[in-house]
Amino acid sequence: MDRREFIKGVTAFAALGALGSVGISCGQASENGSEKSTQNAIGPITRRPHKGGPFSTPLLGFGMMRLPEGGSGIDRKKASAMVERALAAGLNYFDTAYMYHGGESEKFIGQALASHPRESYLLTDKLPAWELNSRREMEETFDEQLRRTRAGYFDFYFIHWLNDGNWEHAQKLGAYEFIKEKQRQGLVRRVGFSYHGGPECLDRIASSAEWDLAQVQLNFRDWDSASHTLYETLTRRGIPVSVMGPLGGGTLASISRDAEAILRKAAPEASTASWMFRFIGSLPNVQVVLSGMSTMEQLEDNIRTFTDFRPLTDEERSVLRQAAEAANWKRTGSSKCTGCRYCMPCPAGVMIPDVFRAYNRYREGGDRSRFTTEYAALPAKGRADACVDCKACLSKCPQKIEIPRHLREIVAELNG
Ligand code: SF4
Ligand code: SF4
Repeated sequence: MDRREFIKGVTAFAALGALGSVGISCGQASENGSEKSTQNAIGPITRRPHKGGPFSTPLLGFGMMRLPEGGSGIDRKKASAMVERALAAGLNYFDTAYMYHGGESEKFIGQALASHPRESYLLTDKLPAWELNSRREMEETFDEQLRRTRAGYFDFYFIHWLNDGNWEHAQKLGAYEFIKEKQRQGLVRRVGFSYHGGPECLDRIASSAEWDLAQVQLNFRDWDSASHTLYETLTRRGIPVSVMGPLGGGTLASISRDAEAILRKAAPEASTASWMFRFIGSLPNVQVVLSGMSTMEQLEDNIRTFTDFRPLTDEERSVLRQAAEAANWKRTGSSKCTGCRYCMPCPAGVMIPDVFRAYNRYREGGDRSRFTTEYAALPAKGRADACVDCKACLSKCPQKIEIPRHLREIVAELNG
């Protein structure tokens, strides 16, 4: 079920929820270790203890990389309203990074949280170690992040975007030691990393240092391939998991008609996204599930899913498996795109993730006319045929998608 359709039916409930939670303080929520979820001092979103408590995080985290945009960047009015609503619901975990929204994400969340007591929210930021070449550059970047976010300290601070090559570089740079020093200075509370590589390198990283959290891409569609192994590797090493991409870059919020019919029959009022989130949230070593929300509707849907969070029952798992069979997912080519936007900006202006997202929805059972309408709505220089094959995007894609080739295929299909 499309999130928009679903929301129409629950507007009244959401409004009541908002009223009911206004004024709830999240102040000591982060130090409360019990997995609570009802209307109480910490808000209605279910929380999970971190490493046995007493510190806890909400099970749903707000990813700051897909904020609503207007003509000239982040739509601050809409995005601020979402942050306020999130806090009122007990969703007080925010995840940003140096390059999200071209650096504007850090500034935005700094501004949006400025009027809230520092202990009322949890902020995760990340060191772009792969771009840095000296201790001085790490210092400058870290100081700039503190200035942008106005946070004073980071609750979690990660080495960003590790894989084989980036881990080697981060080690030479002394990135982990740098962050541990910041921790001793009280500027970082907990240390982690975000990861975009295969399982072998993940195990090397996980076993090489003490980590409080690791951020990896997990989703239901990829569970039997990459996701399961990544999760098991971190669990074996005793490292709690922050999940990015639980909706596969948005493609799992709306799947094939046949698959959605199966889900709707089992739970007519549940959105497709809620099934995907519940699958991931049911994993016991998941600390926080990030959702890069762009609309208030998505936020309200997620608040419902993570309020009194219910792990999937065996029966519901069987329904999901049936839906997966009906969706007949084959993860090749552009369908591996998670929408992470690391390939952006494209020097020619191609809106790579937007093109892939529209195309993938069509290939996974959507209708062609919807795809052609969405595609036509992109600005001319953002479409696939604007690619000049400069290959600048190739090395940036963590999924190793041959972007220009797949753009050419999309053009050929549109013209065919
Ligand atoms: S290869 Fe095409 S899509 Fe990639 S950066 Fe160059 S112009 Fe953009
Ligand atoms: S093409 Fe690759 S880098 Fe670009 S959004 Fe998709 S997964 Fe991310």
